[in-house]
Amino acid sequence: MTAKFRVFATCDIGESIDLLRKRGYEVEVYPNPEAPPKSLIIEKVKSGIDGLITTLRDEIDAEVFEVGKGRLKVVAQIAVGFDNINRADANRYKVPFTHTADVLTEATAEFALFMLGALARKMWTAEHLTRNNQWGYWHPYLPFLGDEVTGKTMAVIGTGRIGLAMIKKCTGFDMNILCYDPAYQNHEYVKAIQEMKDLRFALGISRERAWIKYTSFEEAISQADFVSVHVPLLMEGESSTPTYHLFNERTLRTMKPTAYLVNTSRGPVVDEAALAKALRENWIGGAALDVYEQEPLPADSRLRDPAIEDRCRLMPHFASAGRITRLSTDPNKGMAGRCAQGLIDVLEGNYGGDIAKMPYVVNKEAFGTR
Ligand code: NAD
Repeated sequence: MTAKFRVFATCDIGESIDLLRKRGYEVEVYPNPEAPPKSLIIEKVKSGIDGLITTLRDEIDAEVFEVGKGRLKVVAQIAVGFDNINRADANRYKVPFTHTADVLTEATAEFALFMLGALARKMWTAEHLTRNNQWGYWHPYLPFLGDEVTGKTMAVIGTGRIGLAMIKKCTGFDMNILCYDPAYQNHEYVKAIQEMKDLRFALGISRERAWIKYTSFEEAISQADFVSVHVPLLMEGESSTPTYHLFNERTLRTMKPTAYLVNTSRGPVVDEAALAKALRENWIGGAALDVYEQEPLPADSRLRDPAIEDRCRLMPHFASAGRITRLSTDPNKGMAGRCAQGLIDVLEGNYGGDIAKMPYVVNKEAFGTR
């Protein structure tokens, strides 16, 4: 039997690969855990594949689309962010690409909240104390104290899918919430959250009446005790409000000296040199990062400075790394399932073959007028 479609996956996405094979697809999976070199991706595309499964580590641009001309029909990315895929190039070559939005929203938001808690309550430093047998006494304030999260003020920068989930989770901690988003403001959601906060207070569940509102970027970052970032990476020229180095020397200095920054979005949104300086010189209270300007984090990164390690939590791009979120074959639960479904939709011509109607395709604009 000849295979229906040929697919190359730049990483293993678990059982979803078997499901594609059961449908008759010929799927080759790059066997190593690291990203393949770009030259290998080009070679595979050139060999004549119909679909390419990618991760955020793969640079997909005109070079790739050029060698796939006339054969490559879809790029299916296992991630919600797609800053590694050149959208203009994909559109020029009329190749749809898909992503896995929504299924990782709750996992990413909860991880941001857990990182924030670990940072503010000094859990890493406290556990080291216990493990190193340096826990010699119970004392009202020695050897250090952390900062409570409950009842504090949170700035949510970017109120898209993950930002809204973060707001929901922070509401459980009776936090006041300052929202900022220049392009998408969900006032209905914010109103519903305020009603929930009012109800919690009225029923005696919360001791104080908490609030939520949209505001300016400056007010959000200058008033908040915690700033959590949930924006896409947008370079200069890609948006009227780019997010590249949104957190830089100036904006970090605008934050309260006691405030904490949490970044689970994309590394280049934060200027790491400025952040390391801010932490060393105590312009802010601390930072928890899941993403970096260069990944994996280089051995000589300034963020590894032992002088700031008590107030700088460093995670390995791990926020969506929940078992079900990453690998469920169910497109409504798992990134792997949604990635495979995005690929199938395009290759098998679901939705009457109308790419603009396919839910997981990102660059619909290139197909709207067919
Ligand atoms: P989304 O598109 O639903 O939301 C992003 C929001 O950011 C949008 O509402 C947009 O208007 C807003 N925005 C754009 N420019 C802005 C600016 N200058 N200032 C403030 N807000 C701005 O996306 P999402 O599903 O919520 O995901 C957000 C990002 O999180 C993704 O693009 C991805 O890069 C990142 N992410 C990381 C992980 C991880 O493992 N660490 C997991 C999932 C997503």
